Amino acid sequence: MDKLPKCGANYVPLTPLTFLKRASMVYSNRTSITYARTRFTWRQTYERCCRLASALRSLNIVKNDVVSVLAPNIPAMYEMHFAVPMAGAVLNTINTRLDAKNIATILRHSEAKIFFIDYEYVPLARDALRILMANLQHSGAAAETSMPLVVVIDDIDSPTGVRLGALEYEQLVTRGNPGFVPEEIADEWDPIALNYTSGTTSEPKGVVYSHRGAYLSTLSLILGWEMKTEPVYLWSLPMFHCNGWTFTWGVAARGGTNVCIRNTTAGEMYQSIASHHVTHMCCAPIVFNILLEAKPHERRPVTNTVEILTGGAPPPAALLEKIEKLGFHVVHAYGLTEATGPALVCEWQKRWNKLPVGDKARLKARQGISVLTMADVDVKNPETMESVVRDGKAIGEIMLRGSGIMKGYLKDEKTTAKAFQNGWFLTGDVGVIHPDGYLEIKDRSKDVIISGGENISSVEVEAALYKHPAVVEAAVVAMPHPKWGESPCAFVTLRNNAAVKEADMAQHCRENLPRFMVPKKIEFMEELPKTSTGKIQKFQLRALAKTFVEN
Ligand code: ADP
Repeated sequence: MDKLPKCGANYVPLTPLTFLKRASMVYSNRTSITYARTRFTWRQTYERCCRLASALRSLNIVKNDVVSVLAPNIPAMYEMHFAVPMAGAVLNTINTRLDAKNIATILRHSEAKIFFIDYEYVPLARDALRILMANLQHSGAAAETSMPLVVVIDDIDSPTGVRLGALEYEQLVTRGNPGFVPEEIADEWDPIALNYTSGTTSEPKGVVYSHRGAYLSTLSLILGWEMKTEPVYLWSLPMFHCNGWTFTWGVAARGGTNVCIRNTTAGEMYQSIASHHVTHMCCAPIVFNILLEAKPHERRPVTNTVEILTGGAPPPAALLEKIEKLGFHVVHAYGLTEATGPALVCEWQKRWNKLPVGDKARLKARQGISVLTMADVDVKNPETMESVVRDGKAIGEIMLRGSGIMKGYLKDEKTTAKAFQNGWFLTGDVGVIHPDGYLEIKDRSKDVIISGGENISSVEVEAALYKHPAVVEAAVVAMPHPKWGESPCAFVTLRNNAAVKEADMAQHCRENLPRFMVPKKIEFMEELPKTSTGKIQKFQLRALAKTFVEN
């Protein structure tokens, strides 16, 4: 065929911003956000976002400027996911668990022009700004002009009066223009968000998402999770994690209701589930423990099935079984900051429904298959780039290709180039592919234990430990061994200080694992060291394990 029509007048760049305008028309009077006694409709949310976008423009925000925010899951945090890119700027949500030094590093690296701070984080932000000022002065930069403009977000439901500088969020919204018409996105590859990795294995890196990537990933997850229209979505996953795994934009796309909560305590979560009839929530597996260990007075019955999308760390099969018994239905996903959140979903096959509960939990604990916008997923040998055999045993590195993958790391071409090989993004995770095409993570490449030439997956040893009724959390790392090179060493926290001895736990492991995988040492701890995103810091545990051998 020749003389094919060219793509022309019908071309519209992809952006998730279109979801909000549509929701404001289709679901205008439906509740968009609830938070304590505050409630907005989609029409109001659209208007508030237009106002804020115009206010940002009046503060001289121009295209591609970075706007940072340090806030929990409150209405302002949600609104900024639309208002900041509507003003042409790039949203940088900062993890609220970081310390002042790390926050200062992010503000400097991203060259943030405005810094929104929830009132609760004012002391932390003040310290971060002091460090930033000192660093800028030290490097000879023009500190006054390089510092971001500060805007405090007071609590919308019960204002506290806490301030840092002259500007306050609600005042900005009020003074903005409700008739503001955002410019059309010039290019769908323009940046929409900047998210820093949590740095579990290396220094935090600034991951840039495009409008196109955000749009396609949002649609993929709505489809992958089969999210129908008008969901009631509980914000148990921080919005600062990959923009809430894209559900900040996704809830608007489905005309849902955002149930915002300040703290993810068991009490707040159960209360919200009961009073708002929550249908969906996302969380890391660690939140299962919070729900399972809730005190009797915090619990409420889960009367309608709540769909949970979990990921970020391996959910042990034993935990999956327990949480589903409470009335939650879990879908397991795998992803990373560089993949705009979940890149794989363990899509459920109807034929698995007939299987015994334990088998179902084991299938669900696998990381799954690619989301629709991920063109390809494979497990390859990183040296040869050859795919491993799909037998559920051959190990290789998990690699991804597709629209959800980041544009690259901010100001770091070298690391960006290293992250890709022949167009594949290298995840640094080690896994297998089963004959049915489902992928299973065995470990992060740095966490694999090599004992007498055998690869031991710390995830598998942890799964066996979680089967013990007294275990709340478990982490397994390599410990130097004179004969085997490395051997597994386990760190465990126990329920209500249960009186379990090391020998009992070792016996439990022998009953559930091949002998060579049984930890040579099991250490009980009150708490395991965690990163700002709640992930267990294995490098700290590895250092501790080393001391057991040295002493
Ligand atoms: P960081 O790499 O700094 O922890 P991320 O939040 O991007 O930052 O974490 C991504 C990593 O989390 C993945 O590379 C993988 O190791 C782990 N991960 C994510 N989801 C899962 C899952 N479902 N099962 C096992 N590990 C997971």
